[in-house]
Amino acid sequence: MQGERTGQAVMHDRIREYEAFCERHSDWAVTMVEGLVTRESPTTDKAAVDRCGAALAGYLNDIEADVTLLPQDSAGDHLLAELGDGPNQVLLLGHFDTVWPVGQLKRMPLQQKGHRLFGPGTFDMKGGIAIGMLAARAVLEVGMTPAARVAMLWTSDEETGSATSQQAILQHGERSKAVLVLEPSGPGGAVKTSRKGCGQFELTVTGVSAHAGIEPDRGASAVHELARQIVFLESLQDVESGVTINVGRVDGGTRPNVVAEKAQAMVDVRVRTVADANRIERAFAGLTTEDPRTQLQVNGGFRPPLERNAAVRRLYEVAKQVASDLGRDLSEFSTGGGSDGNLTSARGIPTLDGLGAVGEGAHALHEQIDILALPWRAAMLAGLITRLVED
Ligand SMILES: [Zn+2]
Repeated sequence: MQGERTGQAVMHDRIREYEAFCERHSDWAVTMVEGLVTRESPTTDKAAVDRCGAALAGYLNDIEADVTLLPQDSAGDHLLAELGDGPNQVLLLGHFDTVWPVGQLKRMPLQQKGHRLFGPGTFDMKGGIAIGMLAARAVLEVGMTPAARVAMLWTSDEETGSATSQQAILQHGERSKAVLVLEPSGPGGAVKTSRKGCGQFELTVTGVSAHAGIEPDRGASAVHELARQIVFLESLQDVESGVTINVGRVDGGTRPNVVAEKAQAMVDVRVRTVADANRIERAFAGLTTEDPRTQLQVNGGFRPPLERNAAVRRLYEVAKQVASDLGRDLSEFSTGGGSDGNLTSARGIPTLDGLGAVGEGAHALHEQIDILALPWRAAMLAGLITRLVED
């Protein structure tokens, strides 16, 4: 009993030391956020994302991390950074691509008002990267946690579904005791203990073109067929159980007097459970055309849901204890948005998400973070890493 109390007191002191370290180096973290935000990095612009990645690699070299570039042809290069040589690894996961095009800074200038830092990508999630790096520094530089090995994987294509980073995420996740995701926090700094699964599907209908006035019967309209498919897809929606289906974009046809030969739809699906994801996936695979002269091709699939399982709940409990050592309450939050945490959690790797910045306005014009919260978020993360590697 006495020993246990002493152990807790030692941990409490160490977490307080992390906090003091993170307070001392808070400006370093803020400068890094500014440096990353200045390099705009829309997922689909490889040259721009790579410029941001080069700056990030520079910050990682500054803290003497072992940096490996994971080169990509169709996306920005991903960055793997490793620090410490303890036997137990924790993976810090995040992305440096954003949803904002190059030039957005003119509309959303990087600026500090009071303790709020505004700008594209501050909250989602360049602020989170800075928190992860400050936490890694605290664990290694305070130097009381020899068991730790901190790997960081900063990817370039999360906002479009992580097609090129998925493999590396799972590979490095599987070598780790836990994956801690530095995506934006929920309201009041809450961590994210459940996320919906997201499906992205593309429907392409090929019909037969014809003159709409002279010989309409010789045509088979791709647009009309696609419309029937859309009505059917809407019938799969069940908002109460969290299954939503949004046909967010349709293209098709050429002119009003031409029976359309091609039509396409892009569909976003959200689900709470793996069972629903499987059911909807089967429904998409089973779609058939009503007009037999048209053909339908379906592409796409799911990023599975992050379910609030035992491993997630346990990580949340540990994080909550660390937060209470810092005099903070840590709540939990459930969201319809997906992240790479969905992938690692579905693979059975203990995952806690939403450990990044406190702020608001992800994907919105008022995107911002609270820079006063950076030190305690980083100290909490450092404490969490410590608890996990020493467990
Ligand atoms: Zn994000």
